[in-house]
Amino acid sequence: MDKNVLDKMLRPKTVAVVGASATPGKIGYTVINNLIKGGYTGKIYPINPTCTEILGLKCYPSISEVPGEVDSAIITIPAKAMAEVTEACGKKGVKGLIVITSGFSESGRKDLEDEMLEIAAKYKMRILGPNIVGSLSNSDKFNGSFAPGLPLPGKASLVTQSGALLIAIDMATYTRKIGFDKLISIGNMADVDFADLIEWFDEDDNTTCVSLYIEGMKNGRKFIDAARKSSKPIVALKSGVSAHGSAAAASHTGSLAGAAKIYNSAFKQAGVIQAQDLNDLFNRTLTLSQQPPMKGENLLILTNGGGVGVLATDAAEKYGIPLHFAPADVQTELKKHMPEFGSAKNPVDMTGMAGNDWYYQTTKFSYAHDWTDGLVVLYCETAMTNPFEIAKSIKQAVDDSGVTGKPITVSFVGGEKSDQAMGWLVENGIPAFGGPDIAVNAMAALREYARLQENKSDGAYNCDESAKKTALAIFAQARAEKRDSLTEIEAKEVFKAYGMPVTKIALAKSEDEAVALGNKIGFPLVLKIVSPDILHKSDAGGVKVNIKDDAGIREAYQTILKNAKAYKADANIHGIAIQEMAPWGTEVILGSVNDAAFGPTVMFGLGGIFVEVLKDVTFRVTPFTKSEAAEMIGEIKGAAILAGARGEKPKDRAMLAETIYNYSCMIHDLDDEIKESDANPVLVYEDGQGLKVADARIILKAK
Ligand code: ADP
Ligand code: MG
Repeated sequence: MDKNVLDKMLRPKTVAVVGASATPGKIGYTVINNLIKGGYTGKIYPINPTCTEILGLKCYPSISEVPGEVDSAIITIPAKAMAEVTEACGKKGVKGLIVITSGFSESGRKDLEDEMLEIAAKYKMRILGPNIVGSLSNSDKFNGSFAPGLPLPGKASLVTQSGALLIAIDMATYTRKIGFDKLISIGNMADVDFADLIEWFDEDDNTTCVSLYIEGMKNGRKFIDAARKSSKPIVALKSGVSAHGSAAAASHTGSLAGAAKIYNSAFKQAGVIQAQDLNDLFNRTLTLSQQPPMKGENLLILTNGGGVGVLATDAAEKYGIPLHFAPADVQTELKKHMPEFGSAKNPVDMTGMAGNDWYYQTTKFSYAHDWTDGLVVLYCETAMTNPFEIAKSIKQAVDDSGVTGKPITVSFVGGEKSDQAMGWLVENGIPAFGGPDIAVNAMAALREYARLQENKSDGAYNCDESAKKTALAIFAQARAEKRDSLTEIEAKEVFKAYGMPVTKIALAKSEDEAVALGNKIGFPLVLKIVSPDILHKSDAGGVKVNIKDDAGIREAYQTILKNAKAYKADANIHGIAIQEMAPWGTEVILGSVNDAAFGPTVMFGLGGIFVEVLKDVTFRVTPFTKSEAAEMIGEIKGAAILAGARGEKPKDRAMLAETIYNYSCMIHDLDDEIKESDANPVLVYEDGQGLKVADARIILKAK
């Protein structure tokens, strides 16, 4: 990211509009009109060979004829003329193009997009879009878009992949009192992407929170890196999480909407706070743009109504910040500002008798008290009170407390007066919402942000050099034989090199050899087919377990060969794997995919029906730490089974975390080689007893 170039593009001192029009209703007219209406103080150069003047501005036939420098050019001409215009802008020394024009990769013309990129690269020119509404900046009074107008000023900035959403949000910022400094439509993300803008916003003094609407992304790793480094909170709404939704998103922007679970993990790893829907994105963005993180677990709720107090209490548990009773000294003090029948526990219920003074006193005391890590103040409109005065009491109490760096959110439930009072609070830096659960959810976002910051890993990795050598030698052998799948024996060797406990295993090419090897390994045994053409061995009748003697070996050997030939007559059979039969344990699965957006990604879940029917799995993009691996174990719904459900002893989760970590190391280290892999099943034993990889599979990338 080149800060100066993006500054010139998105906060230009001089801007050209290529495709400017004198005809109202045309985009080329609207953009010029918007720039003027927005109060832009830089120079505007309309470009159009058939006009002399647009809205009082002198019009130039081509960008080359503009006197002086042009920082940014907003493009509204048809896609087919893009190459020529890009060339002309490059020659002129324009730093960035805001390409509103559509008709590129989103509608099957990736060639036009590539051509534009190639020319732009020649001149080191950056491109926003194409296929966008434009870019708006309140602090620059720059409305370089065809959106209705500059949004309500605020401290958050939004980047959206959907232009329509920008337009929808734009005017709603006034009615919902949620201010933004910048709204940026990012469209096809041919060049400038989320990561670039996250980096850029990090240095933007007018932005305190970055809000993202994401349909899909191409370079997920770059996103994670940028987000990790960001010193500002980032909230993201990812759409296309349903199967149908993801198809809609893909056709919409020509990008891939990846598996929802991988995005979930990636956001967590990147320290990005998620929003569940559009309202949530708005509310969380507002809150994170105005309030500091909630650094501890203690949430205190003040209310004048029991009902909203209970609703808030439920929400607190639901959103991961369950309430604790306030300590005795806090309760004693709070008791002074309520009637006898009030409650000073938590939620603190001052009852309907609470007026301005009680609100002031309790807010001031609670907010200032060390025990409180976050304060939510609730109010139900009563006939005896004036919402605006209550709002002022709350704000005054916060100001008078002498405390900063502690979060507060508010909810007023009532009519128009309450709404107006909340609007005033928001204007004065205190997020206020119509529902007690929303105020609590907003606080939960501040808590999530603090937690994500604490757990943020730097993504540094340290894999064993020699393991990689072993793996590459095995891969080379397979590739020399024109195979892209390893045999179980080879795969287990690679797993073992990376420190994962695998079953003893050897290849027999004859019945006699099988008996000899079997006796060496020790009974009971498992015999399996070894064939690069048979990946699912049990489907082919290629697995025999619990073999107890020589006769058993001979019988299994013959049966497996016969079954394999019946299953696939021309299968290339290397022989039969003779292996130690691992004692039965809790079955888990490890898997890896090379995700289109995020690259090598590890999956973990319980095995058997848990993975097949319940899809109870979780993901992490590599690289990740051992403690993140441990987190994965706690994340699945079946976590209780590993913790030792129904009187069973807990399973060896320490060893499992270690193994997940080692596996991730293998996947990350061999990123260029491995397309996908799994260990299914891994048998996990009781605490201290470790685990065994019973089956392993590695598929290589085609080379
Ligand atoms: P597939 O290719 O069909 O996945 P597996 O190697 O996983 O074949 O074997 C099928 C099943 O046999 C496993 O799910 C597991 O229950 C059992 N099994 C395989 N290998 C072993 C082993 N070494 N020790 C104990 N059980 C095993
Ligand atoms: Mg298996």
